[in-house]
Amino acid sequence: MSDCLFCKIRDGEIQGDIVFEDDDVLAFNDVNPHAPVHVLIIPKKHISTVNDMSAEDVSVMGKLFSTAKNIALQRDVSEDGYRLVVNSNKQAGQSVFHIHMHLLGGNKLGPMVDRID
Ligand code: AMP
Repeated sequence: MSDCLFCKIRDGEIQGDIVFEDDDVLAFNDVNPHAPVHVLIIPKKHISTVNDMSAEDVSVMGKLFSTAKNIALQRDVSEDGYRLVVNSNKQAGQSVFHIHMHLLGGNKLGPMVDRID
């Protein structure tokens, strides 16, 4: 059994508020939303970080973007704008080590990152 939280949501061992699913991709509402629309979009395949992607994973990463586009339309944030974020490793704030794309929208978002010195 996997110790990965998002694999457990994928496998139905932990309940997720799922908004989209197909053979390769799963999307669910973030449990601690940072915006009126905050959806996490993951590859069903367990890939820990962007650093762990291989050539065969390129197409599913493209599907994360097309899923984000479709959900943004459904949630009516396409026109006003939304942000897609993928944190990779600890210093970037990644806390769940299964690649996920954050889709954030529904209000005016602040600066993309804190100033980095
Ligand atoms: P990150 O910090 O980029 O790794 O993002 C992890 C995200 O997963 C955070 O925004 C959390 O709020 C979210 N999260 C943690 N547990 C759950 C859960 N059980 N269901 C949905 N989202 C979760």
